[in-house]
Amino acid sequence: MARVKGKVAIVSGASLGIGKATALLLAQQGAAVVIADINEDEGKKVVSDIEAGGGKAIFVKLDVRKEEDWQAAMAATLAAFGRLDIAVNNAGIAYSGTVESTSLDDWQRVQSINLDGVFLGTKYAIEAMRKHEGGGSIINLSSIEGLIGDPTLAAYNASKGGVRLFTKSSALHCAQSGYKIRVNSIHPGYIWTPMVQGLTKQDEAARQKLVALHPLGHLGEPEDIAYGILFLASDESKFMTGSELVIDGGYTAQ
Ligand code: NAP
Repeated sequence: MARVKGKVAIVSGASLGIGKATALLLAQQGAAVVIADINEDEGKKVVSDIEAGGGKAIFVKLDVRKEEDWQAAMAATLAAFGRLDIAVNNAGIAYSGTVESTSLDDWQRVQSINLDGVFLGTKYAIEAMRKHEGGGSIINLSSIEGLIGDPTLAAYNASKGGVRLFTKSSALHCAQSGYKIRVNSIHPGYIWTPMVQGLTKQDEAARQKLVALHPLGHLGEPEDIAYGILFLASDESKFMTGSELVIDGGYTAQ
């Protein structure tokens, strides 16, 4: 019950889906959690759920594209809890389109949330974590779509592939600088969250098409990813940095 006891975590996109499951699990395992999201109503519900379970949490409104929001979110984290040990750069959006059908505007919108957001979150997490001896753990949400290509996910593939290699660059920089800060990426298969529910638009045939891509025969649940993030956040993974944790029901084993 205390795998991250006494640690302080910030989770972007923590109001729904994988981020929400992660925030709840980190709190259950002893961390104080900053719920950072554009979705204030749902985010405040997550704070109430954590407090009802005896945990500590605050909500901060954060648009991951905005540098000033990150600066304010980190200041709020340090003001509330005094330090930062864990940063989960989870906020992201899905977008379907081929290289031919994707407009430059849509391409840039996807990169600004999925890639610029992770860059800023990592940059400001390092700055906050450097302020204390303990260092920290940064976990960046990539995807199976950061490992293999899909003709209909041109912008999403590019953003998640970018997260994968940016994570390694950051991990090496932290190691070479002598910071005790680890940076790893996580690569989920299709997880049944509001994002994927939006993609399949309540079409059971479309959902079954996604199911068929996973050898285990079903989609993942947000908790499947939250447990992987908990491992990377905890000291149990202290020899891991620059690694890729794949949790995909066998999708990329084929
Ligand atoms: P989700 O259900 O859509 O939840 C994402 C959360 O992030 C929502 O609360 C959303 O708010 C928020 N958000 C969106 N844009 C934001 C911004 N600019 N700044 C701050 N918060 C923002 O997504 P999910 O399925 O849990 O996915 C979480 C992460 O895992 C994403 O990076 C995604 O690419 C990655 N991933 C997901 C899957 C999957 O199958 N679900 C697979 C691989 C990787 P609103 O609801 O108001 O938009």
